[in-house]
Amino acid sequence: MIELSHISKSFGETLVLDDVSMVVAEGSVTALVGPSGGGKSTLLRCINLLEIPDSGTIRMGDALVTLHPGQKLRWDAIQSVRRQTGMVFQNFQLFPHRTALENVMEGLMTVLRWPREKAAAHGRELLAKVDMEHKADAWPATLSGGQQQRVAIARALAMSPRVLLCDEPTSALDPELAAEVVDVLGKLAREGTTMIIATHDLRLASSVSHDVLFLEAGKVMEAGPAERIFRTPEHERTRRFVSSIT
Ligand code: ATP
Ligand code: MG
Repeated sequence: MIELSHISKSFGETLVLDDVSMVVAEGSVTALVGPSGGGKSTLLRCINLLEIPDSGTIRMGDALVTLHPGQKLRWDAIQSVRRQTGMVFQNFQLFPHRTALENVMEGLMTVLRWPREKAAAHGRELLAKVDMEHKADAWPATLSGGQQQRVAIARALAMSPRVLLCDEPTSALDPELAAEVVDVLGKLAREGTTMIIATHDLRLASSVSHDVLFLEAGKVMEAGPAERIFRTPEHERTRRFVSSIT
């Protein structure tokens, strides 16, 4: 289980996350939705401590990190959370001078110190999971955006993270290529991959997620099962947001 309690974060004078709490069950998918600037990316970055919250608690498996204003977090505490997460970005961020397979193998070899053959064998399995095994030896620049994103997903899965954090995984893609990525994320969801996905793509949110958290101006406006939030949002603000995009 991943549990965030009372997470707050300011940049200078601006309060960007205001007392955000959420629980993500193992094997479930949560979509973070809401208007631009609402804090979705910041929340994802706080979950893996790329951004250190000012206050609140993060529980991830048996790692527990409590933040206090002004307190510096120890590196091993940061690592205890970060090594349980994998991250997928809007613009893929593959290593350009490594093939698709080498991108997936990188962490296995450098962090886990696996021998090359073992890393390559597991890398191929992961590429197969995202339907990219046939492009194992291709350079990122020769792949479509959708293909690059699928390789990036395989790379993020390589370290067997407890949770996959995806920040706008389809928003740099044409609809057809976005659909490939939605299909892959849907398949991972059915296999029980725990994910938190920040997205403006309500097709992605509604087809893949079990739960939805609607963030606006750093506050959780509404949260609950995807089915309910998309069909019968409680708050007028959420209703307008959902109907504006669907
Ligand atoms: P979008 O839908 O456009 O991706 P978002 O919901 O992901 O938006 P964030 O990127 O989390 O929103 O931004 C929330 C607020 O925090 C914005 O007002 C943004 O300008 C501010 N912000 C984010 N990162 C920083 C930073 N490093 N320094 C200062 N302000 C920041
Ligand atoms: Mg964002």
